[in-house]
Amino acid sequence: MSGLCTVEEALAAVLARCRALPGESVAVRAARGRVLVADARAASDLPPFDSSAMDGYAVRAADTPGRLRVAGHSAAGLPAAVALGAGQAIEISTGAVVPGGADAVVQVERTVRHGDDVEVEGVEPGDNVRPRGGDARRDDVVVPAGAAVGPSQLGALAAAGVGTAVCGRRPRAVVQPTGSELRPAGVDLARGEIYESNGTLLGAQLESAGAVAEVREPAVDDADALRGALVHGLEADVLLTSGGVSVGEHDLVRTLLAELGVEEVFWGVAVRPGKPLFFGVRDTTLVFGLPGNPVSTLVGFELFVRPALAALQGAADPGPHYLPGRLARAVRRNPGRDDLMRATLDDDGALAPLSGQESHMIVRAAAARALVRIPRGDGELPAGAHVSWLPL
Ligand code: AMP
Ligand code: MG
Repeated sequence: MSGLCTVEEALAAVLARCRALPGESVAVRAARGRVLVADARAASDLPPFDSSAMDGYAVRAADTPGRLRVAGHSAAGLPAAVALGAGQAIEISTGAVVPGGADAVVQVERTVRHGDDVEVEGVEPGDNVRPRGGDARRDDVVVPAGAAVGPSQLGALAAAGVGTAVCGRRPRAVVQPTGSELRPAGVDLARGEIYESNGTLLGAQLESAGAVAEVREPAVDDADALRGALVHGLEADVLLTSGGVSVGEHDLVRTLLAELGVEEVFWGVAVRPGKPLFFGVRDTTLVFGLPGNPVSTLVGFELFVRPALAALQGAADPGPHYLPGRLARAVRRNPGRDDLMRATLDDDGALAPLSGQESHMIVRAAAARALVRIPRGDGELPAGAHVSWLPL
C-alpha cells in the first residue's frame, strides 16, 4: 500500500495475514487468558439431578399448605433419601437431591416444626427446585470455539466437569527495541541518553494478550548489530521492533527487514500517535515495526498487535473491542488522522482527555484509564459527544 492507510484498512490487512496457530490440550486450571479452538462440552447434565435451591422441606405441592409428617432427611452430597409418600415431608438442604415423589421445596423460613411434624406454607410444583439439566445438558456446548477464557468461562468449564480444553497455541513473540540512546534503569544517563521503556511495556502487553514474550536488549542503530537481532526475531511467530522505523538516517529497520525477506504490507497509518507504523510478513512470521515514542508503541499495540495475537490464538472476534462512551469536554479533531487520546473516566463515567497528549509522554499516559478514539475530521467534537474507547 502506498501513502497512509486508515486504521480500518490497516487492521483488515493485519487480520487477513493471521492464520490460527495449531490447538493444544490445556488443563482447564491453566487455561485463563487462552482461546478455545474446539467447543468444550458438558460431561454431565448441570445440575446433574433435581436439587433443592433452599434449606427447607421437600413436599408434594398438592399437600400444601398443611401439617406433614417428617419422613427423613436429604443432605448435599448424599444419594437421594427415601421417596416421599402422601402427607409427608423430607427435611432437605440446599444442593441436596430432591427425593422421588416430591415436586417442590418449602423454604425453612416458611415452616414451623412440631416434633415429628412440620407445618408448611403453600407452594406450587417446581418451587425452589433446580431441575436436572436446567443450566446445561450433557454434551451441550459450555464454551464455544473462538471464545476467550476468563474467570466466568473457567467456572462454567469446571462446573461442567471439563478437565482439559483445546486452546490455540500461545504465540511466541520477540521484542527488539532499537536505538543507540537507550539505557537500562539503574545507570546514570550520559547526555543524550534515555531509559529504555518500550521493551518492558511491550513485554507486559504481550503477556496480557496471551503471547509468550522474549524481550531482547536494545540494539544500537548500526546495520550489522541490528541485522543479527532481526534474524533472531524472525524465528518467532511475531516480531515487534520498537523505534528506527521513521524517515531519519538512523532508521534502519525497514531497509533491513526488506533485505531479510520481509514483505511490506503497509507502512504509515492515519493515526495519532503512531503514524510510521510498519507491518510486514515473512513466511508465517508477522512483523510489526512500532514507532519508538512510547505512547505510539502503546497505541500501536492495542490497535493492531493485540487483535493479531487474538486471531493467531483462534479468537472468533479478535477486536479491538471498543466500548461506547461520551466526552467530558470538547475535543478538536485532526483533519487527516484518527486520534487515540489518553483519558480518565470522571465521576459521571464521561471520558476526560488528559493534558499532555504528546507521543513521548508515557508518564502522563500512565494516569489514563481509556484510549478514546476521535475520528479524523474537521472542527471539534462537543462535550457529551458519543465516542468509542478502549480500556487500558
Ligand atoms: P524513533 O522511532 O527511533 O525515531 O524514536 C522516536 C522516539 O522514541 C525517540 O525520542 C526515541 O529516543 C524514543 N524511543 C525509541 N525507542 C525507545 C524505547 N525502547 N524506549 C523509550 N524510548 C524510545
Ligand atoms: Mg531511534
